[in-house]
Amino acid sequence: MTFQPPVECPICGNTLALDRTLEDHLMREHEHREVARHVASRDGNGGGDGGAATELYSD
Ligand SMILES: [Zn+2]
Repeated sequence: MTFQPPVECPICGNTLALDRTLEDHLMREHEHREVARHVASRDGNGGGDGGAATELYSD
């Protein structure tokens, strides 16, 4: 049995419905440019986790 806590969009701050993924939300609600800008600014903060960001573009 798996339990996933609610996911909050890091860009608009909305809490996603449980049956929606962050990737799905980003694709529908945000332009690639918005997402790219957010990821770029986060990278500038010295975050070491680039795995999730890379996943978004593995289309
Ligand atoms: Zn959002």
